[in-house]
Amino acid sequence: MTEKTIPTNFIRQIIDKDLAAGKNNKKVVTRFPPEPNGYLHIGHAKSICLNFGIAQDYNGTCNLRFDDTNPSKEDIEFVDAIKWDVQWLGFDWNELHYASDYFQNLYDFAVDLIKEDKAYVDDLSAHDIREYRGTLKEPGKNSPYRERTVEENLDLFERMKNGEFEDGSKVLRAKIDMASPNINLRDPTIYRIRKGVDHHQTGTSWSVYPMYDYTHCISDALEGITHSLCTLEFEDHRPLYDWFLDQLDVPCHPQQIEFSRLNLEYTVMSKRKLTELVTQKHVDGWDDPRMPTIAGLRRRGFTPASLREFIQRVGVTKSDNIVEMGVLEDCIRTDLNENAPRRMAVLRPLKVTITNYPEDKVEQLDSSNHPQNEAMGKRKLPFSNTLYIDQNDFAEEPPKKFKRLIPGGEVRLRNAYVIRCDEIIKDASGNIIELKCSFDENTLGKNPEGRKVKGVIHWVSAAQAIQANVCLYDRLFSDPNPDGNKEGKDYHDFINPESLIKLEACYVESNLDSVKPGETFQFEREGYFCLDAHSSSDKPVFNRTVTLRDTWAKITKK
Ligand code: ATP
Ligand code: MG
Repeated sequence: MTEKTIPTNFIRQIIDKDLAAGKNNKKVVTRFPPEPNGYLHIGHAKSICLNFGIAQDYNGTCNLRFDDTNPSKEDIEFVDAIKWDVQWLGFDWNELHYASDYFQNLYDFAVDLIKEDKAYVDDLSAHDIREYRGTLKEPGKNSPYRERTVEENLDLFERMKNGEFEDGSKVLRAKIDMASPNINLRDPTIYRIRKGVDHHQTGTSWSVYPMYDYTHCISDALEGITHSLCTLEFEDHRPLYDWFLDQLDVPCHPQQIEFSRLNLEYTVMSKRKLTELVTQKHVDGWDDPRMPTIAGLRRRGFTPASLREFIQRVGVTKSDNIVEMGVLEDCIRTDLNENAPRRMAVLRPLKVTITNYPEDKVEQLDSSNHPQNEAMGKRKLPFSNTLYIDQNDFAEEPPKKFKRLIPGGEVRLRNAYVIRCDEIIKDASGNIIELKCSFDENTLGKNPEGRKVKGVIHWVSAAQAIQANVCLYDRLFSDPNPDGNKEGKDYHDFINPESLIKLEACYVESNLDSVKPGETFQFEREGYFCLDAHSSSDKPVFNRTVTLRDTWAKITKK
């Protein structure tokens, strides 16, 4: 899909001004800093496109940095998945870092703070620290340990590092102001003790771990980041970001700029909730095609270009809003409408025998891969006397305006002949199991003489068709804002029971025999589909990426 020129936004305007003023030696350096405690979701894609996109457009660089200061929740599986997702989205990092690369620097900077009497070891329990912190209306109280001498603090901090104290028994805190109107500045914790946990990068070599706020600004400074872009919830943390960098002898002072998070209708986006969906088995793993994760969207059949286009349409602002699911679906529909080859697949097969077509004959009919794009070429479609059509395309007692096959009526088989239904065969319990039809041999590529045939339906030739399973995916939640916390309900109460319909006896045309996982197609009249990444070769599984039209718009307008 062709990408439009990028519209500007308030962050780009700040960068333009900085460059015009000659700031940062006229360089632009950004970073994407995920915590490897889950898979990336579409919200992260916004941050990725923003950070990497700015670096690209300003001839700058962007680092990928794992913010790995919380070893008990992190895993190398997530590190690998995140790297792949970023590359798959079409970006490449300049430098790859882990905040844990800086554990020694961070420790040394903490010692510097202690030496300047700007940090102290506190023995208060987590509970008491909370009590002493005060509230938005009331100032906090100083800890009784706040006035420890520099020597005592240096000694205790070193012993914390050496593993002499138990988890939770002591923390290192910045000495700022317990009466600050900004609670983040009320002597925030900068180090805590975590003994014996196995960190995916540093093993068990550290017994103390730095906190996020302390780690983040220093990591940014050490990497020479010029613009540190983060989401709005960190706005109140900016004074702390700046405080640390002002106290310490760091190579530069990056500028933190906040933008609003991406929220999307009919889904949840926090890693905690996505983790719950996985561990409570509401979905089939992080890459379940219903998940808003990059891995899920990829398995669903979304293309990198469609996700980049979505992020561009959403834009970058400081105001919070929830984006309609229809916007995301429209991006992939537009992409696949342009780029996905057309194929035929019969999802609910009904056998059709063409009684006047020779039994042993197989014709190869020329069929275009894309009606609007000749460059996509043609394929051969086998036609024989035994076909499958979709059960929904035949009605014994048709409703009004039914333009498909009816007893005694005619319909065109797409890319093939016009057929007429002569007889209905039923089983003992009255189910229709076969239609006996006849075809008009003068209707290949031309209209029949003397009569009009309105309907066109899809079909496959039975002998050559491939058996397949098809997964019809729909939205995982039935409510646009499942997080909305209505009447004491939570998102679990809004899980859509019909978000996955599995069809197990489908037939797809023989041209789909050597498809690669993730390859996308339009199944004519059914929607856009891709071969599932976990599909096996003996019975392929196709995932519905999106319907041909926005079916939800109709439902919600009713
Ligand atoms: P979550 O709340 O889902 O756990 P997080 O902010 O803790 O997300 P991180 O791994 O820390 O996840 O995020 C990495 C980067 O992606 C951060 O800069 C963060 O601000 C950004 N980010 C996370 N969620 C969104 C979102 N919904 N929209 C835009 N950016 C986001
Ligand atoms: Mg975070």
